[in-house]
Amino acid sequence: MPGFIFGFKCKNLTPILHIGDKRLILNRGQNQHRMPNPVPEMKRKNGKNSISSPASLPETIDLLSRLSAAHAVPGFEDEVRAILHRELSGAGKGSVDRMGNYHLRMKGKSGPHVGIDCHMDEVGFMVQSITPDGFLRLVDLGGWSPLTLSAQPMVVLGSKGKIHGAIGSVPPHFNRGKSGGESIPSIADLYVDVGARDAAEAREWGIALGTAVCPDVQPRLMHNGSRLIGKALDNRVGCAAAIQAARALQGEDVNLSLFGTVQEEGGLRGAEITRNSTDLDLMIVMEGSPADDTPGQLSSSSQGMLGRGVQIRCYDPTHITNPKLAQWSCRLADSLHIPYQVAVRRTGGTNAGKYHLGAHGIPTIVLAPPVRYIHSHLSIVDLNDLIATRELAIAMIRNLDDPTYRELLPSLG
Ligand SMILES: [Zn+2]
Repeated sequence: MPGFIFGFKCKNLTPILHIGDKRLILNRGQNQHRMPNPVPEMKRKNGKNSISSPASLPETIDLLSRLSAAHAVPGFEDEVRAILHRELSGAGKGSVDRMGNYHLRMKGKSGPHVGIDCHMDEVGFMVQSITPDGFLRLVDLGGWSPLTLSAQPMVVLGSKGKIHGAIGSVPPHFNRGKSGGESIPSIADLYVDVGARDAAEAREWGIALGTAVCPDVQPRLMHNGSRLIGKALDNRVGCAAAIQAARALQGEDVNLSLFGTVQEEGGLRGAEITRNSTDLDLMIVMEGSPADDTPGQLSSSSQGMLGRGVQIRCYDPTHITNPKLAQWSCRLADSLHIPYQVAVRRTGGTNAGKYHLGAHGIPTIVLAPPVRYIHSHLSIVDLNDLIATRELAIAMIRNLDDPTYRELLPSLG
């Protein structure tokens, strides 16, 4: 186990992972990232150690695929919010605040009020101007590398419907014979070609300044059967894990709020609102975070490897995780044979940066399936890691009673 000495006692826990496809449970990794043993589905629904009909692999693939395909850039999260609301109907009381944040309330009889956060938005663009020839200039919503953008498919969320197009690129023919290499365009140099003959035609189609522009990619299951490639897996993997965790806990005595937050990619803005509107005792942020297991990055110090489990993040520049909470979650994962990886990140940030500063300090933890190539048109996730994220969150919520919660808080000595 990397990095921790465990000081917390865990209750007797029954392994709760149940995965229909054996390929999902093979141990391809090191011992410290143990994969779970399959256990038969249990029938009891209200005990802390029971299984609540965990979603099957096909259900998980279907849910994540629909979430990935949805178009929801910062400030325009309607499609993902609708999926959350639809998927969670019957699990609790759903509502939306004035900013667009979704809130599902599942109110049990007792225990600390636990939150799950998953941001709904993805990196995208907004139309900044329309050239006389009908090309769309852009302003970025969230962080992009211009290296990933030339000749990529885009969809414009026009007022009369979706308009498909692509970001323009320069063919090599026009660069032949020129001295020096190609320069990398800035975002301001890029444009979307929607096939309009001129600006008037683009406007007729419902495109205007301020219209949202989103990557346009359909997800695919990869050849090994447990990895999915698609856009917006930051953070649709978190959304899928959150939905499945809440559904698994449906009908149990849990005191839970699920927040689908807006505008995380614009600076953690939705979370700033949701943290102020609740009496949360503990927050679990579910976040697709960058993997570091590809050529040029892969090393003995990699902390986000596909198929090695949920990342338990102890640090990034926006948040230091309560060490007792981090230790407890690792201990739970060990007890249940849920694979995990501890992450200490020099850069980046999540909604945890907002939550832990709310309500006199909300103990907050980030559970993160690693995702390759985030903030681009194509990212890759291993569904094992999504499942591990979901199962660890379920275990934390089931086992967080008042005495356990008090143990996690700082004491006077
Ligand atoms: Zn994210």
